[in-house]
Amino acid sequence: MKLLKLCCLILVAFLFSCSTKKVTLEPVNIRASVLNVYRGSYERSTDIINTKLDLKLNWDSSFVIGKAWIEAKPYFYPSNKVMLNAQGFKIYDVAIENKDGHKSLEYSYNGKILSITLDKTYTNQQKFTLYIDYVAMPAKLKVGTDIPSQSNRGFYFINPTGRDTSKPQQFWTQGEPECNSTWFPTIENPQEKMTQEINITVPKKMVTLSNGSLDFSEDNGDGTRTDSWRQEQPHSTYLTMVAGGYFSVIKDKWEDKEVSYYVEPEYAKYAKLIFGKTPEMMGFFSKKLGVEYPWEKYSQIVVRDFNDGAMENTTATVFFDRMNMTEAEYKDESYEDIISHELFHHWFGDLVTAESWANLPLNESFATYGEYLWNEYKYGRDYADLYGWKDATAYFNSNKFELSPIRFNYADSEDMFDQVSYQKGGQILHMLRKTVGDVAFFKALNLYLQKHAYKTAEIHDLRLAFEEVTGTDLNWFFNQWFMSPGHPILNIESSYDASAHKVSLSIKQLQNLDRMPLYRIPMAIDIYSNGKTERKEIVLDKQNQIFSFDVAEAPLLVNVDAEKYLLCEKREKKTVQQYAFQYQHAPLFLDRLEAFKALEKQQSESLAHEVWQKALADKNWQIRVYALNCVAHLNDVEKNTVYPIIKKMAVADERSLVRAAAISALSKSFATKDNTETYTLAMADKAPSVQRALSEMKKQPN
Ligand SMILES: [Zn+2]
Repeated sequence: MKLLKLCCLILVAFLFSCSTKKVTLEPVNIRASVLNVYRGSYERSTDIINTKLDLKLNWDSSFVIGKAWIEAKPYFYPSNKVMLNAQGFKIYDVAIENKDGHKSLEYSYNGKILSITLDKTYTNQQKFTLYIDYVAMPAKLKVGTDIPSQSNRGFYFINPTGRDTSKPQQFWTQGEPECNSTWFPTIENPQEKMTQEINITVPKKMVTLSNGSLDFSEDNGDGTRTDSWRQEQPHSTYLTMVAGGYFSVIKDKWEDKEVSYYVEPEYAKYAKLIFGKTPEMMGFFSKKLGVEYPWEKYSQIVVRDFNDGAMENTTATVFFDRMNMTEAEYKDESYEDIISHELFHHWFGDLVTAESWANLPLNESFATYGEYLWNEYKYGRDYADLYGWKDATAYFNSNKFELSPIRFNYADSEDMFDQVSYQKGGQILHMLRKTVGDVAFFKALNLYLQKHAYKTAEIHDLRLAFEEVTGTDLNWFFNQWFMSPGHPILNIESSYDASAHKVSLSIKQLQNLDRMPLYRIPMAIDIYSNGKTERKEIVLDKQNQIFSFDVAEAPLLVNVDAEKYLLCEKREKKTVQQYAFQYQHAPLFLDRLEAFKALEKQQSESLAHEVWQKALADKNWQIRVYALNCVAHLNDVEKNTVYPIIKKMAVADERSLVRAAAISALSKSFATKDNTETYTLAMADKAPSVQRALSEMKKQPN
């Protein structure tokens, strides 16, 4: 799942942040950290093998009229009981169906759990098929009493009566974490994996989508049609989905597999623009992981009023309606990260599933890191590192430093879907990759996927795969990062002893060791001295540590964590000269960003001004935006120098957000100049951010 709340905050923070503005984030709920509970994996008493559903929709009352056939067996111990989740149903019949026919069973139902007594005791070698005739009334579930929030309703009718002229009629479902039992009886446990057949009857002109393949469609002769969907590979019950409405279906393919995009008809012409990189992504992930995309097809559907950003239902991802984009809107924000996130889940989450919500990082940290991998492959490391840094920033802004990524004491499973499981977890995987190296990293992922395909896993399974591949013990890494809260806070000081020709580097771990680990951190140090760069590898594993290096002459820069891979808070004093040097000579995006951010505050330093001017041509668009935000602090001579550059950026920069920032800079810092020609050219720029910048400008008094 991709959380809407999180991506919005990040987007807002980065579109509008500048050196003086602080972004206020929502208050943080850390009640889970003090709960004295243990939430392990759920006990398994029944194993569902296959679920077959016949569904009809009553649009007037927003009811789901269902018949379910659940093929199951006791998980291990012999049993004559089955407990199913079923939220807010009206139940007409519960029966067992076998060669002797149909036999009604005794059951009790409390509105949440359906307890069934079987006709006899079964062993786990004996399968049985339960039949349940029911009506589900998801729209009637009351928030606060029946369900914790609107996002737990499971099945959603959009404009069911057709009276709302602003919206098309649609329906869609959202199963994760435990919401699918609002529309079919099942076991809400990520360990419960099953195959499925879903027959759904809809008005004839509607199209439907579900997991797996469309087996056949039948015209019922009464203005309705029944579509029969079948998925033959087992997946967790929270990944089951149906959706439907008046969509255009745009077909694409990867290898011999169907890839399709379901969008409202007016967006059909943009579907390939928005989703068209999907086949390339499928190929990239398949190759990188050494495990070919494991499902029968891949469909993506854009629905109205979706709760979150998107959801990775197996073979049928549901997206929020911000994906209904025009070409112009796409220029500002393509949401490509959501596309790669949900697709990567088809390996991490759908193929191998976290066995419990406590282990959710096995789904979400990976999906978040999938975004990085795609960006790195498609647009290069510099670009990918920007979004990696945004993830790190989202974690730091969350203040969730008391929560371990793997945690067994959350208050509600929904609480697990946070910046610790997502962004911090993604950063941890990046550190794991940098720690073991690329070849070992992807080989271990391959082993993990092969070993647990169509099954579930917990965090130790991931560690064991890495240990098997690398032949080294990795408890230290997994314990400090996945099993512990917080992050290192490092105080860094370096000095040069001219007589001994030595650099002395002191690093202190300042984090509270009562609550956070003393970290073991292997890292690279680059020393820029005597016209060359020398790399030293160190391992930080003490609270106070001093490292000493021989150098020929006084270094211009000691670049700690030269790979910029570490999720940490750094307290480091460098001079303006050192930061300016770092901006110009250190190779990575984060080197330049760190230096720029430090120099942003040095408004009276001419060297800082020099860097800001250079940064207008930075290869990374975000740094160009930051540089434009600094233009106001340049002196008149400097302003005259950059004026033609900014005019050009306003119309010619490849990134629309930079063009918009350049227009703002022109209107704020060059209001006395005649910018009419530039503004006239910019009027033809369709990007909403540019149009917004132009209209903001018009509002300003001359
Ligand atoms: Zn996700």
